[in-house]
Amino acid sequence: MLRVEHIGIAVKSMAESQQLFETLLGAPCYKHEIVESEKVTTAFFQKGETKIELLESSDPEGVIAKFIEKKGEGLHHIAFEVEDIRAEMERLKSQGFKLLMEEPKRGADDKLICFVHPKSAGGVLLELCQTIKQ
Ligand code: ZN
Repeated sequence: MLRVEHIGIAVKSMAESQQLFETLLGAPCYKHEIVESEKVTTAFFQKGETKIELLESSDPEGVIAKFIEKKGEGLHHIAFEVEDIRAEMERLKSQGFKLLMEEPKRGADDKLICFVHPKSAGGVLLELCQTIKQ
């Protein structure tokens, strides 16, 4: 793993939270993106090398809506940038980590992503992400 690429935060209201984080970070949101497959709207902020990704559910049945129902708003996942996501998935699998998907899929921000189950990662949902080279 190369570095923490971003931190994902589940929010109820994108409008409210975006304003809050703009004030908090002193940086504007530089991108919104809808990820249809995850039923989620995202907003990105950049601070140094690390980004903050706000996640708002676009569907009451979506994973973020369910997460907020159970745990409330807040930290949702930590994403690590990797050079070769398939190799990293193999490495983690061989060491007993439970992955939430068999194949990487396309996430927000031009990334291939895969989630690692929080039960095998100290209670934290981890995301592996590899930048898709244009
Ligand atoms: Zn993420």
